Amino acid sequence: MEAVIPKPVRVRIAPSPTGFLHVGTARTALFNFLFARKNGGVFIVRIEDTDTGRSEKRFEDNIIEGLTWLGLTWDEGPDTGGSYGPYRQSERKDLYRTHLESLLERNLAYHCFCTKEDLEAQKNYMIASGIPPKYSGQCGALEKDDVARRITGGVPSVIRFKTPTRKLSFIDVIKGKIEVDTELIGDFTIAKSVEEPLYNFTAAVDDELMEISHVIRGEDHISNTPKQILIQEALGFHAPSYAHLPLILGPDKSKLSKRHGATSILEYRDEGYLPEALANFLALLGWHPGDEREFYSLEEISAQFDLSTINKSNAVFNIQKLDWFNAHYIRQKSDDDLCVLCLPYLTKVGLVDASTDTEKVKKIIALEKDRLKKLSDIVPLSEFFFSLPEYETEMLVWKKSDAATVAKSLAASYEALAALNAASFTKEAIKSALDTVVTEFGTGATYWPVRVALSGKDASPGPVEIAEILGKEEVIKRIHAGVTRLNIE
Ligand code: GLU
Repeated sequence: MEAVIPKPVRVRIAPSPTGFLHVGTARTALFNFLFARKNGGVFIVRIEDTDTGRSEKRFEDNIIEGLTWLGLTWDEGPDTGGSYGPYRQSERKDLYRTHLESLLERNLAYHCFCTKEDLEAQKNYMIASGIPPKYSGQCGALEKDDVARRITGGVPSVIRFKTPTRKLSFIDVIKGKIEVDTELIGDFTIAKSVEEPLYNFTAAVDDELMEISHVIRGEDHISNTPKQILIQEALGFHAPSYAHLPLILGPDKSKLSKRHGATSILEYRDEGYLPEALANFLALLGWHPGDEREFYSLEEISAQFDLSTINKSNAVFNIQKLDWFNAHYIRQKSDDDLCVLCLPYLTKVGLVDASTDTEKVKKIIALEKDRLKKLSDIVPLSEFFFSLPEYETEMLVWKKSDAATVAKSLAASYEALAALNAASFTKEAIKSALDTVVTEFGTGATYWPVRVALSGKDASPGPVEIAEILGKEEVIKRIHAGVTRLNIE
C-alpha cells in the first residue's frame, strides 16, 4: 500500500560543492525530484558550502549543469531563488550564528578547548578501558568565566553539542524503525566557531527553516540523522521524515568509486550518454514500478514513484545495462537529431570540418545508428568513411576462398562498378552491378573483399550501403587498392 504523504511536500538535494556531480548524488536528486513531482511538492537545491577550504564555485556550476542536463528542474535554488533563500549555506551564516548562540546561552552546547593530543589521549584511554570511544565531555564542565577568559585569550576551540543521554528512535520511510542509544554518540562538534558551523548543524537548521518535509538522502548519512534530530529538538524544531536510500555499488559490490569508471555525471554526457537514458537507468537503480517495462520517461516515472517501494538492499551499477538503455534511446532519435548530437564528436577528432557535407554525415549516422551504444562510438565506427581504411592484405581473403580467386572477384567488382555512372551510383545500381560478380564467384567471395577494401573491417554495415555513401570515385579507388595489394602479395 502506498504511504499517505502529508502535504505540503518540500524536499531538497543538498550537495556539497567539493567535487563534480557524482552518480550517487544525481540519483538522490532524481528521487527527490520524482517524489516532489509525484506529490505536487516543491524540489529545492541547497548548496552546502560551509567547508570553505574544499568548496569551489566550479563544482557548484558543475552540479547545477549536471542536474539540468539530466532533465531535472527545481522550484527553489541558488539560481532560481525562492522565498526560503538564500540557498547557499555560505550566505546564511547569520541564521546559524543566532541558533548557535541560542544553544550556547542555554548551555545546550559549549566551547571545547581540547587539543588533538588531548582527544587522542582520551580516546586511547577509553579503548584501553574497554569503553566505546567518544568525547569525554570534560570541557562541558568548565566555568563560564574560564571559558570567556580562554576565548578572549585566543585559545583555539570548537563548539560541541551537549548530547542528552537517551534512547532515540525514528521511522525511516525505507529502512523502518531505527533506534539509537545517544550515549554512544557523545558530545559532537557542531561548529568550529559561531562563524563556522558544520554540516550536521547547518543541515538541521536549514531543514527546519526551509520547511523540509522529507529528507531523502544516501544511506551513508544514517549516522548523522540522530545528531540532526537532537539538534532540532534542542532548537524546538520539528524533525522531518527521513528516507535513506541504499547505496550504489560497483560490480565488485564495493561502494561505487572512480575505480569502477566514470562517477561524474558530466563525464557520462561527454562520453555520449543521453540524459533520458541515464535518468531512466538511475531511476531504476533501486526502484521499479513493478511491471515488466524498462523504458520510462521522467514524467512516467514520477507518476508512479513511491518511496515505500524502494529496494532495501544496495543497487549495483551495471554499465552494460546503461549502455543498453543508451542504445535504445539513441535508436529513438531522428537521423537529423542524431546528426546534431554526433557532429561534435566527429569535429573534435578532426574527421569532420565546416567544409564536410553534413548530408554525408547524416547518411553515415543512419547507417551506423543501430551500432551506437554511445554517441562517441560514432568516431571509430565512421572513421573509414573519411580516411582510407587500414587493414592487413590477408583480411581481403574470404575464409572459404583463396587469394587468387578473391583477386579475380575483386577485379571483376572493380570492372562492374567502374562501368556505372557516377551520378547514379545508387544502392540499387551498385547491387545489380555486383550481382553479376556474385553469379560467377558466389556471394561470400564477392562481398567479403569489397567490404574489407571499402571499410577495412570484418563487421560493418553492408558494402552496398557503404559504397553508396562513399561515391563512385572513392569506391573505385579503394577497390583498386585492394586488387593491387592482392596481386602484389
Ligand atoms: N551536503 C551533504 C552531502 O553532500 C548533504 C547530506 C544531506 O542530504 O543531508 O552529502
